[in-house]
Amino acid sequence: MPIGNVIRGTRVGSAPDHRAERHQPAPCRTVAYWCRNDHHTQIRLAAEVEAPEVWDCPRCGLPAGRDAQNPPGRARPEPYKTHLAYVKERRTAEEGAAILAEALADLRRRRGRPVS
Ligand SMILES: [Zn+2]
Repeated sequence: MPIGNVIRGTRVGSAPDHRAERHQPAPCRTVAYWCRNDHHTQIRLAAEVEAPEVWDCPRCGLPAGRDAQNPPGRARPEPYKTHLAYVKERRTAEEGAAILAEALADLRRRRGRPVS
């Protein structure tokens, strides 16, 4: 077999491989948001994009945040409280009485009256 007749294995019409140049879908991640109506929303973001802190809920339009337990703008469950109510929350009645007695004793001392 004459060596000169070896046909090189190149197909007619073969083209450079373009597959590597095809656009890959950008890497994505899913970010979840919750609004205060407990609507759960997931958005897809490009991996390199920083997720916004707040996303408008597509169902009710309220701002939705990334913390399910603490969505933005959640109405405070506690109604308005008086200063006394806050004090009562921090102190028991007994503590309150002790503090009051102490304060009165102080006051009496400062006024030069005998304690008790
Ligand atoms: Zn919502």
